[in-house]
Amino acid sequence: MSSDRYPFAEIEAKWQATWEARKQFKVTEDPGRPKFYCLEMFPYPSGRIHMGHVRVYAIGDLLARYKWMRGFNVLHPMGWDAFGLPAENAAIEHNVHPAIWTYENIDNMRAQLRKMGISYDWDREVTTCDPAYYKWEQLIFIRMLERGLAYRRRSTVNWCPSCQTVLANEQVEAGRCWRCDSEVTKREIDGWFFKITDYAEELLAWCDRLPGWPERVMTMQRNWIGKSEGAEFDLPVAGRRDLKIRVFTTRPDTAFGVTYAVLAPEHPLVDALIGDADERAAVECFRAEVAKQSEVERTAEDRPKRGLRLQAQVVNPFNQRAVPLFIADYVLMTYGTGAIMAVPGEDQRDWDFARQHGLSIVETVKRPVGWVGEAYTGDGVKINSGFLDGLTIPEAKRKAIDWLVEHGLGVAKVNYRLRDWGISRQRYWGAPIPVVYCPIDGMVPEKEENLPVVLPHDVQLSGKGGSPLAEVASFVNTTCPKCGGKARRETDTMDTFVESSWYFLRYCSPHYEQGMFDSQAADYWMPVDQYIGGIEHAVLHLLYARFYTKVLRDLGLTKVDEPFRALLSQGMVIKDGAKMSKSKGNVVDPDDLIRTFGADTARLFSLFAAPPEKDLDWNDHGVEGASRFLNRVWRFVETHHDELTSAPSAFGPRAPLELGERSVAPARAGGAVGGGASPLPTSKDATTEEGRAFRRTSHVTIKRVSDDIEGDFHFNTAVSAIMELVNALYAFESGARDRVAAPERVALLREAIETTLLLLGPFCPHVTEEMWQRLGRAQSVFQQPWPVADPAALARQEVTVVLQVDGKVRGRLVLEVDASEERVRSLALADERVRPWLQGRAVDRVVVVANRLVNIVTRA
Ligand SMILES: [Zn+2]
Ligand SMILES: [Zn+2]
Repeated sequence: MSSDRYPFAEIEAKWQATWEARKQFKVTEDPGRPKFYCLEMFPYPSGRIHMGHVRVYAIGDLLARYKWMRGFNVLHPMGWDAFGLPAENAAIEHNVHPAIWTYENIDNMRAQLRKMGISYDWDREVTTCDPAYYKWEQLIFIRMLERGLAYRRRSTVNWCPSCQTVLANEQVEAGRCWRCDSEVTKREIDGWFFKITDYAEELLAWCDRLPGWPERVMTMQRNWIGKSEGAEFDLPVAGRRDLKIRVFTTRPDTAFGVTYAVLAPEHPLVDALIGDADERAAVECFRAEVAKQSEVERTAEDRPKRGLRLQAQVVNPFNQRAVPLFIADYVLMTYGTGAIMAVPGEDQRDWDFARQHGLSIVETVKRPVGWVGEAYTGDGVKINSGFLDGLTIPEAKRKAIDWLVEHGLGVAKVNYRLRDWGISRQRYWGAPIPVVYCPIDGMVPEKEENLPVVLPHDVQLSGKGGSPLAEVASFVNTTCPKCGGKARRETDTMDTFVESSWYFLRYCSPHYEQGMFDSQAADYWMPVDQYIGGIEHAVLHLLYARFYTKVLRDLGLTKVDEPFRALLSQGMVIKDGAKMSKSKGNVVDPDDLIRTFGADTARLFSLFAAPPEKDLDWNDHGVEGASRFLNRVWRFVETHHDELTSAPSAFGPRAPLELGERSVAPARAGGAVGGGASPLPTSKDATTEEGRAFRRTSHVTIKRVSDDIEGDFHFNTAVSAIMELVNALYAFESGARDRVAAPERVALLREAIETTLLLLGPFCPHVTEEMWQRLGRAQSVFQQPWPVADPAALARQEVTVVLQVDGKVRGRLVLEVDASEERVRSLALADERVRPWLQGRAVDRVVVVANRLVNIVTRA
């Protein structure tokens, strides 16, 4: 460590110990104070924090500390998303039990977070693999089971061969596992589901009612829910009175343009439609080919669509025409009814398929002039459409649906892309699903008084297929809660996204033993006012948590409709053009950074280097710059300590905080520390122009930093503003020494340095606390009120400008400093004391000396 650096190691250790000893960030519900719930997404305990963590926790801590200073009762908790596969994989690889691995990692990471000096209320720490935690989600599982919101069925699921487990649709990205990037395959399996589809409409509707969320995330959620409105109706099979095919369409207005129909190859009706052995063989062969493709490949727009024409035909009920019937890969069984009416005139995929298979195309919407080729999906008037001709598309949609309903052929129908959430995982390190299977009673939920169903400790983990719990006889063999006979426990565990769907509620009353959480505490703290976390959770975690909160609301446990009022999605930390990762060898270890420069520098850099929602490009010079800046502030306080402490402070202490007392006592401006009238001049009394200009800089900075934080999280420009103030501080200190009398000068310097420390506090809490204390302040920076810009200081200063006509003084103008020459000139010419001297003379020219005088030169 170079000797000219401030002693950050001692300072940071000292203040971390002080905050902890004072329990400064411990909070309780206080109905008399406004609350602010600040939450960063809790981490998976991988063992070490990385720069991405530093960034997100620095952002959260800045907001939490800022809100403290604003007088809020701030809940800022931390915990561990502790179940999950890496623990199990580490166990297999290193032969260490997942619990031991996980708890050791938690200890390491907690120690690292403490070194960052984040203002957590550590008394509220939760760990999701603790039976005292997952007990409650087992109880809610049983409640959901009773209401049909949890159910078990056999289905084709996404299977990751590498993770050896089922994946929810949300956990498959472009056909690959979200966790390990392996190609996902399909499997038929019995599993548990949460009925998130029951909440599709509400989840969608609230996407328009959360203005604090980034539009990008809301759009991703809307697309994921994928609502489409249309009609469902039957296409009778020609010559087969017993068979009809149900189709869903979002464009019933195009029904007169149907030139063929398509079934998903997996559609259960296909077998009944097969005419002979040759067709059967062809269908089997086609199905086998399609089975090799993922859903993503099948529905990709830019690939040939494969299809097989069946012998059977269907009849379009709108015009009674028989049209060909196909099975084709681009129609999925999992969307709509697994069958479509094809309208190549107005649907591009149908168009592509029709062209590839030589099928006719009928236009049912009048094209704009000059339109050639391709399907047309724009607005227009209906043509070739019988009773719909001449209508607009929305009119025709309504009329077509009315027609179907009138004739008993179909119904209006809403479809969602959203599927129920598959929560069964065939892995060990998760919360057991609390049901048993009895030969007599079938599936029976565990009795509430027997919860939690504890995950057994002794287990053999091989990673080779099947639920490890199935091998643990002492776990599997149990008694039926209903008949008392022998029964087997469910051996699947719950998706770890279940634990992260309610941890924010548990934080409200983490030690509550009578239920999932204390409703009164949750009513006070919820919703989370500011949630902060990565964009990778835009659909997964954020959609699940919204759903689960609504379920808990409907179970009567909470009053909130939505868990997170506002969301900030921070960008990644990248270095040398790539996301920091071990495999790329571009990792910066936060421990090294903290050891070399201190936590305050690490935090300042991560907040200064980029706006939070943008990617942060790592830069060693930037870190050094942040460190130099803090040393510069430090040196100022050290060098001018005696002088500074001789002046009165512009910031009075906050009234002592008592629990239950209203905290937002206004700062008493102008008093010396300890109160009492001061005989010394304060910064407000500055009389010199230079002094007032400097004071204005201090207050403009207060306004800029406050606006930047409150506005759109412009932390980087807030830091720039503070840096400018420090430059002005140095300049005023050295420049004004001869021109501004000592009491005024020192009062202004004190106000400026204290302003700097208060504004910088939430960014760099340790070093600002230390300097604040060294300036003789007894209270913590974070018990101080956030400074408020003095409107009198912000007002531009005025100057008196002398008005001359031909060199003789004729009047005076009081004007704002640096008024434009244009403005000074026109005011001077219009002045009533000047005008008589211009009578009968022409103005030759007007000389303006800025802030001093105007001379009007005339000629006869
Ligand atoms: Zn995987
Ligand atoms: Zn039984």
